[in-house]
Amino acid sequence: MWRVLGQPKVITLLQRSLQSGRLAHAHVFIGPPHVGKLTLAVNLAQALNCASPDPPCGECSPCRRIAAGKHADVQILDLLSSEVKGIGIDQIRDIQSVASLPPYEGRSKVFILDNADLLSHEAANCLLKTLEEPPPTVHLILLTISRSRLLPTVLSRCQEVNLRPVPLRTARDILVRDCGLPSEKADLLSRLSGGCIGWAITASRDDGVLQEREERIAAFIAMSSAGPGRRLAYAAELAAQFGKGRDRVSETLSSWLLWWRDLLLVKAGDEQYITNIDHRTALRSQADRLTVPQIQQFIRHLRAVPRQLEGNVNPRLALEVLLLDMP
Ligand SMILES: [Zn+2]
Repeated sequence: MWRVLGQPKVITLLQRSLQSGRLAHAHVFIGPPHVGKLTLAVNLAQALNCASPDPPCGECSPCRRIAAGKHADVQILDLLSSEVKGIGIDQIRDIQSVASLPPYEGRSKVFILDNADLLSHEAANCLLKTLEEPPPTVHLILLTISRSRLLPTVLSRCQEVNLRPVPLRTARDILVRDCGLPSEKADLLSRLSGGCIGWAITASRDDGVLQEREERIAAFIAMSSAGPGRRLAYAAELAAQFGKGRDRVSETLSSWLLWWRDLLLVKAGDEQYITNIDHRTALRSQADRLTVPQIQQFIRHLRAVPRQLEGNVNPRLALEVLLLDMP
């Protein structure tokens, strides 16, 4: 059975292609983080090698070996992981030489390249040859968060599959029905996940995720009444995190943006759409002290910061200006 949740259209599409024997040999799965791209890619690798009449069964030996990362014909390379970082032309040539051999234990060789947008230009061009004329038993699946990050020449040789975040109500239903979460927790996690079910499932299993969120929210609330000194100290703390890895800071900024979006919704009297439903009281009290133009202006500033951080702006300076600008 297909394990990716909330993507019935995509599953139907792939299933039909499999049944009619018209499955493309190169796919690119496009969608935001945690929407299910990797789960779907592993499912497809299982479907291509499954021993049951109803693939992917998830139970037969090939399906189990693929899920456990032990199948000789299915390789997953995450270009973001430290071991693979900087995948170059040599690694692509390795893939090409492995791809030219027949499958070792299954019917199809499947190469999954996660964060495929990190391929170097040179490596992507080298990969084109495999994408152009893949041996009949070879399937390549590239995963990316945005099609604009891949070379047009790579995209044009792949079948594009778009995975979109699921609507709030669908996400909540899935978390209750398929994951057995109590409805209150499912409601909160579906809102926080933005419809990316994988995030919600991780957060439901790992208390650390929600704990970190609580710490971030405590900081947002504290900063709203803090003087310049404390704000600059918080900016310095975020800038230091940014120096170690960008993900945590971008998560903080995303949570912060959701917080301020909630303030705007509270101000407009549309509380049913807020994300941070477990912090209504704090949101109401902060919203009371602000005007709509003040909230809108700070939201614009918050939205500009990730772009500044991606550019050449000094991270500490950008974050200091942001913190001091907060009404
Ligand atoms: Zn199977």
